[in-house]
Amino acid sequence: MPIHIPQSKPTLNKADIQNIPAIIQSLQLAQGKQVELFECKVAHFQRLKYGVATNSGTAALHLSLLALGIKKGDQVIIPSYVCTALLNAVNHAQATAIIADVNLEDCNISLTSVKRKITSKTKAIIVPHMFGQAADMSSLVKLKIPIIEDCAQAIGAKYKKKLVGSFGALCINSFYATKMLTTGEGGMVCSNNTNLIKTIRDLRAYDKNKNYKIRYNYKMTELQASIGISQIKKLPLFIKRRKTIANLYTKGLQNLNITLPTHTNDHDPIYYRYIVKVPKNKKKFITLLNKKGVQVTSPVDKPLHSYLKLSKYTNTDQLINESISLPIYPSLTNEEVAYVIKSIKQIL
Ligand SMILES: *Cc1c(COP(=O)(O)O)cnc(C)c1O
Repeated sequence: MPIHIPQSKPTLNKADIQNIPAIIQSLQLAQGKQVELFECKVAHFQRLKYGVATNSGTAALHLSLLALGIKKGDQVIIPSYVCTALLNAVNHAQATAIIADVNLEDCNISLTSVKRKITSKTKAIIVPHMFGQAADMSSLVKLKIPIIEDCAQAIGAKYKKKLVGSFGALCINSFYATKMLTTGEGGMVCSNNTNLIKTIRDLRAYDKNKNYKIRYNYKMTELQASIGISQIKKLPLFIKRRKTIANLYTKGLQNLNITLPTHTNDHDPIYYRYIVKVPKNKKKFITLLNKKGVQVTSPVDKPLHSYLKLSKYTNTDQLINESISLPIYPSLTNEEVAYVIKSIKQIL
């Protein structure tokens, strides 16, 4: 059977394109009023003062590192169980990425591992809140090292009743096609820190400056921002629907030979992904479900420590061997969820 339930799908409708003709007619296509408004809307959602829109989450990470003064010779700690965007951002800043292991329970960066990796050269930690669940921010902030919270998978999630993004010096987002909200491609840095934001705004565009230094062209377009403005209005509904779907999975997949996601009362996850662990034969599980038309995938293809040929990342390795991401997106119907559950039961 061909895939009829994909892993992920953007949620777009007429409202998202309503303003596009007017923007095209206005001839103001590059960064302008729409971008400014989108920045306000995202910052407001995050309960932070400022937002700076970029053309990707990677660019947002890069500028965040530069704003923190990260340079050649500095070390930045990042987890192994994540996409290469983090490693790229650290390398763009010419710093050295130090890879930490993650927790088995929540797939987030491990406090114990981070502590072991800290040296006198450690200048920042990038903490992604993986798959929509916050990392243990209370302990991480106590390390007194500047933190960039990577909310690309977790905007709207809470930890101890506080929104992710409000714990670190800066937080970043991605609006890539499959993220919580989308502008096709896009990103943003949000923060309450006026000086950091000033630097990031300065570095985002190369034009209209008195002095020369290396700057970037990381700007978002008006067309993207106008889609984003419409998308963020719907974000609370997107999150609500994702939580409902996660509940359906959790109810429907009880007492099978797979581990379901759990969280403590400190957490309010938004289920960017619904990750189950299959102790044996993960590959076969994926192949059989794909044959039934359900696209399940490995949430991380290859961990960073493997790219860098490092060893002793036992938790990450175990997650690589066992974790599978089930389809979850706001437009997934209850019937489709039931079909996924039925298919999994048939396989196990
Ligand atoms: C998607 C993602 C990024 C990168 O965002 P892009 O917009 O694709 O550059 C960074 N970190 C995390 C955790 C992501 O999921």
